[in-house]
Amino acid sequence: MQCSVCGAEALDLTSGDFDGLVVRCKRCGEYEVADDALNGFLRLDYDARVAALNKARGEAGRGVRPSITTDTL
Ligand SMILES: [Zn+2]
Repeated sequence: MQCSVCGAEALDLTSGDFDGLVVRCKRCGEYEVADDALNGFLRLDYDARVAALNKARGEAGRGVRPSITTDTL
């Protein structure tokens, strides 16, 4: 798959446990995008997607995978 943030080749770690995408990208690390946030997230430009990921990262605790939700956008 392609990373939803930067478009680089990325691993799709999506499982049934989470309602959305789980991505591992060499550049962006691991993150989740909730299903209901995905369309809005993909409509953002690159800088805004990076900013959203950084915000989610700041909100996640240490060792916790950042999760991009409608609240993040
Ligand atoms: Zn990426």
